[in-house]
Amino acid sequence: MLEFETLINYLTIAVTIISALLVALWLSLIVWAFRDMRSRSRDPFAQILAAVVVAILPIFGLVIYLILRPPQTLADSYERALEEEALLQEIEERPTCPGCSRIVHKDWMVCAHCHTRLHKQCHHCDKLLALQWEICPYCAAPQAAEPPLLPWEQANLGAE
Ligand SMILES: [Zn+2]
Ligand SMILES: [Zn+2]
Repeated sequence: MLEFETLINYLTIAVTIISALLVALWLSLIVWAFRDMRSRSRDPFAQILAAVVVAILPIFGLVIYLILRPPQTLADSYERALEEEALLQEIEERPTCPGCSRIVHKDWMVCAHCHTRLHKQCHHCDKLLALQWEICPYCAAPQAAEPPLLPWEQANLGAE
Protein backbone atom coordinates (compact mmCIF):
# COMPACT_ATOMS: atom_id res chain seq x y z
CA MET A 1 0.00 0.00 0.00
CA LEU A 2 2.85 2.30 0.88
CA GLU A 3 4.39 1.68 -2.53
CA PHE A 4 1.20 2.70 -4.29
CA GLU A 5 1.09 5.98 -2.37
CA THR A 6 4.70 6.68 -3.29
CA LEU A 7 3.85 6.07 -6.93
CA ILE A 8 0.91 8.51 -6.68
CA ASN A 9 3.23 11.09 -5.13
CA TYR A 10 5.75 10.73 -7.93
CA LEU A 11 3.01 10.96 -10.53
CA THR A 12 1.63 14.12 -8.90
CA ILE A 13 5.07 15.70 -8.92
CA ALA A 14 5.59 14.72 -12.55
CA VAL A 15 2.19 16.08 -13.61
CA THR A 16 2.83 19.31 -11.71
CA ILE A 17 6.20 19.82 -13.38
CA ILE A 18 4.81 19.07 -16.85
CA SER A 19 1.85 21.39 -16.25
CA ALA A 20 4.15 24.16 -15.09
CA LEU A 21 6.32 23.69 -18.19
CA LEU A 22 3.27 23.75 -20.45
CA VAL A 23 1.97 26.91 -18.77
CA ALA A 24 5.39 28.52 -19.16
CA LEU A 25 5.46 27.52 -22.83
CA TRP A 26 1.91 28.85 -23.31
CA LEU A 27 2.79 32.17 -21.65
CA SER A 28 5.98 32.56 -23.66
CA LEU A 29 4.08 31.84 -26.90
CA ILE A 30 1.61 34.60 -25.98
CA VAL A 31 4.45 37.01 -25.26
CA TRP A 32 6.19 35.96 -28.48
CA ALA A 33 3.02 36.52 -30.56
CA PHE A 34 2.51 39.94 -28.97
CA ARG A 35 6.12 40.98 -29.62
CA ASP A 36 6.14 39.54 -33.12
CA MET A 37 2.98 41.44 -34.00
CA ARG A 38 4.44 44.59 -32.45
CA SER A 39 7.38 44.34 -34.87
CA ARG A 40 4.91 44.08 -37.77
CA SER A 41 2.14 46.48 -36.87
CA ARG A 42 1.83 49.70 -34.89
CA ASP A 43 -1.85 49.01 -34.26
CA PRO A 44 -2.24 48.15 -30.52
CA PHE A 45 -5.52 46.35 -31.29
CA ALA A 46 -3.73 43.98 -33.71
CA GLN A 47 -0.98 43.33 -31.14
CA ILE A 48 -3.50 42.41 -28.44
CA LEU A 49 -5.57 40.35 -30.88
CA ALA A 50 -2.51 38.27 -31.84
CA ALA A 51 -1.78 37.57 -28.16
CA VAL A 52 -5.43 36.73 -27.43
CA VAL A 53 -5.74 34.32 -30.38
CA VAL A 54 -2.61 32.46 -29.29
CA ALA A 55 -3.82 32.49 -25.65
CA ILE A 56 -7.29 31.08 -26.42
CA LEU A 57 -6.18 28.44 -28.95
CA PRO A 58 -2.70 27.45 -27.75
CA ILE A 59 -1.36 25.53 -30.79
CA PHE A 60 -3.96 26.24 -33.48
CA GLY A 61 -3.98 29.92 -32.59
CA LEU A 62 -0.24 30.04 -33.22
CA VAL A 63 -0.62 28.34 -36.61
CA ILE A 64 -3.45 30.72 -37.55
CA TYR A 65 -1.36 33.66 -36.43
CA LEU A 66 1.67 32.50 -38.46
CA ILE A 67 -0.55 32.22 -41.56
CA LEU A 68 -2.29 35.56 -41.13
CA ARG A 69 0.45 37.80 -39.77
CA PRO A 70 1.71 40.63 -42.01
CA PRO A 71 4.62 39.27 -44.08
CA GLN A 72 6.88 42.29 -43.53
CA THR A 73 8.19 43.62 -40.27
CA LEU A 74 8.14 47.37 -39.73
CA ALA A 75 11.95 47.38 -39.93
CA ASP A 76 11.76 45.64 -43.32
CA SER A 77 9.24 48.10 -44.72
CA TYR A 78 11.24 51.02 -43.37
CA GLU A 79 14.37 49.71 -45.05
CA ARG A 80 12.53 49.14 -48.31
CA ALA A 81 11.09 52.66 -48.22
CA LEU A 82 14.59 54.04 -47.70
CA GLU A 83 15.90 52.03 -50.64
CA GLU A 84 13.10 53.22 -52.91
CA GLU A 85 13.71 56.81 -51.87
CA ALA A 86 17.44 56.51 -52.57
CA LEU A 87 16.66 55.04 -55.99
CA LEU A 88 14.22 57.85 -56.78
CA GLN A 89 16.73 60.45 -55.68
CA GLU A 90 19.39 58.91 -57.90
CA ILE A 91 17.04 59.12 -60.88
CA GLU A 92 16.09 62.70 -60.07
CA GLU A 93 19.69 63.77 -59.61
CA ARG A 94 20.80 62.37 -62.96
CA PRO A 95 21.27 65.43 -65.16
CA THR A 96 19.29 65.66 -68.38
CA CYS A 97 20.01 67.63 -71.53
CA PRO A 98 18.08 70.94 -71.71
CA GLY A 99 17.82 70.44 -75.48
CA CYS A 100 16.54 66.86 -75.87
CA SER A 101 15.80 65.82 -72.23
CA ARG A 102 17.91 62.70 -72.60
CA ILE A 103 20.20 61.64 -69.76
CA VAL A 104 23.66 63.17 -70.01
CA HIS A 105 26.83 62.64 -68.06
CA LYS A 106 27.77 65.40 -65.64
CA ASP A 107 31.25 65.68 -67.21
CA TRP A 108 30.00 66.20 -70.74
CA MET A 109 30.79 69.43 -72.54
CA VAL A 110 27.99 68.97 -75.08
CA CYS A 111 25.04 66.59 -75.33
CA ALA A 112 26.06 63.51 -77.30
CA HIS A 113 22.58 63.24 -78.83
CA CYS A 114 21.63 66.75 -79.92
CA HIS A 115 24.95 68.65 -79.47
CA THR A 116 23.43 71.19 -77.06
CA ARG A 117 26.15 72.89 -75.06
CA LEU A 118 26.15 71.69 -71.44
CA HIS A 119 29.36 73.19 -70.03
CA LYS A 120 32.21 75.46 -70.97
CA GLN A 121 35.86 74.94 -70.21
CA CYS A 122 37.97 77.29 -68.13
CA HIS A 123 40.55 78.83 -70.46
CA HIS A 124 43.07 78.82 -67.63
CA CYS A 125 42.75 75.47 -65.79
CA ASP A 126 40.62 73.53 -68.28
CA LYS A 127 38.03 72.52 -65.67
CA LEU A 128 34.40 72.20 -66.78
CA LEU A 129 32.22 75.12 -65.71
CA ALA A 130 28.51 75.87 -65.86
CA LEU A 131 27.68 78.02 -68.87
CA GLN A 132 26.46 80.98 -66.79
CA TRP A 133 29.49 81.23 -64.50
CA GLU A 134 31.55 84.34 -65.05
CA ILE A 135 34.47 83.22 -62.91
CA CYS A 136 36.18 79.87 -62.55
CA PRO A 137 35.60 78.56 -58.99
CA TYR A 138 38.74 76.41 -59.26
CA CYS A 139 41.37 78.96 -60.32
CA ALA A 140 39.45 82.28 -60.07
CA ALA A 141 40.12 83.15 -63.71
CA PRO A 142 37.39 85.44 -65.04
CA GLN A 143 35.31 83.83 -67.77
CA ALA A 144 33.62 85.31 -70.80
CA ALA A 145 29.83 85.25 -70.38
CA GLU A 146 29.58 83.72 -73.86
CA PRO A 147 31.94 80.77 -74.23
CA PRO A 148 34.02 80.65 -77.38
CA LEU A 149 32.39 78.69 -80.19
CA LEU A 150 33.27 75.04 -80.51
CA PRO A 151 34.91 73.98 -83.77
CA TRP A 152 31.73 72.31 -85.09
CA GLU A 153 29.67 75.41 -84.21
CA GLN A 154 32.08 77.60 -86.22
CA ALA A 155 31.78 75.16 -89.11
CA ASN A 156 27.97 75.41 -88.91
CA LEU A 157 28.11 79.23 -88.93
CA GLY A 158 30.41 79.24 -91.93
CA ALA A 159 28.03 76.95 -93.83
CA GLU A 160 25.02 79.23 -93.35
ZN1 LIG B 1 20.55 66.67 -76.00
ZN1 LIG C 1 39.91 77.75 -64.02
